[in-house]
Amino acid sequence: MLKAISEDGKMTVLPLLSKEMVIKLRSTQMFFCPNCKEKVIIRVGDKRIVHFAHQRKSQCAFSTGEGEYHEQGKIDLYHWLKGQGYYVELETYLPQIKQRPDLLLFHNNKKVAIEYQCATISTKQFITRTVGYQKIGIIPIWILGGKRMKRLDKQQLYITPTDQHFIHHFNDRLADSYFYYCANTKEIAINQNGWLSGRRTVLGNLSIQPISSLKFVDIFKKITKDNKEQIRLWLQEKRRFRLYNQPYPSGDERQWRQWLYLHRYHPSTLPAIIHLPIASQWKMTVPPWNWQSRVCFDLLMKKRRVTLSDCQQFCRNYITPDFNFPLVYTKHQPIREYLTLLSDFHYIQEVSDLTFELQTELKSYKSLDQALEHDKLIMSHFTTL
Ligand SMILES: [Zn+2]
Repeated sequence: MLKAISEDGKMTVLPLLSKEMVIKLRSTQMFFCPNCKEKVIIRVGDKRIVHFAHQRKSQCAFSTGEGEYHEQGKIDLYHWLKGQGYYVELETYLPQIKQRPDLLLFHNNKKVAIEYQCATISTKQFITRTVGYQKIGIIPIWILGGKRMKRLDKQQLYITPTDQHFIHHFNDRLADSYFYYCANTKEIAINQNGWLSGRRTVLGNLSIQPISSLKFVDIFKKITKDNKEQIRLWLQEKRRFRLYNQPYPSGDERQWRQWLYLHRYHPSTLPAIIHLPIASQWKMTVPPWNWQSRVCFDLLMKKRRVTLSDCQQFCRNYITPDFNFPLVYTKHQPIREYLTLLSDFHYIQEVSDLTFELQTELKSYKSLDQALEHDKLIMSHFTTL
């Protein structure tokens, strides 16, 4: 905790004081927790950031700190915003919702709560806290601790299904984004419009910059670069998908493999239009190859003429409801996105409003080489810039 109340009732923010001042205060003043009013002590060390600590057995909600890394990051972000002229408060308690955001920023009549989240919290807790801010007109932004960012490649992240709930999408002009800050390297990482392959691997559009070279508004700007690397990584993933079986498949994956086998298909020669990147794949509970192949074989091939709502109904068990992504303010329809791609490739045609008809049979390729060749062809469609 960085803030406490002194005997004379004044709020003291420790990291904003000089070290000499802090040491002097420690021996001359008493401090109390703004929440439980218990006495708290000042902790100073060479490496650690100065902070207030409760007595060991305290039951106060403010006594469970997230550790030094979190406190350091919080104060870094505070100085960063303050340095740009923003009015910003640290650890302000909001009694209406009984929440205490790490930072509360005031700008153009808007209030922004910034949560710097290093420890894991449940999705339920995350949703409750986010909706709490929104209910009282505060815009929440969640910046994840850099230690939570798992980089697999230059442009490839591993994001757990739990962390995927931290996706932000403010409006259609902006990209969907995940934010990270590392209190050790002092860098902000922004992952935008990544393609989720499987359930955890996100490909492309990662930018990592020193916080000192960024302004607050910059973190919302679209990263503009071509997506050659993203396409290359996707093709690499797809090749792996065709060639190798997962050694310990999850229940979903095992079921899917069985289903595929019963339909006499094999991943190595599946049509290239199965396992395509979908921008809002994060809403789906199974990997792209799973639901896309089911739409193709169990719906399109059997019914030949379908509506968007047939497809959505068919996939209902694979879609996560919108309230699980409270930082997304835009509408996303993964199934619709997929149908649009299928019509772009002339596999289906929109015959009337949101009704689609199968145009080309979906056949397995004769060889793996042919499949890989078609994957390349199809993926060239996704080139931007
Ligand atoms: Zn307390």
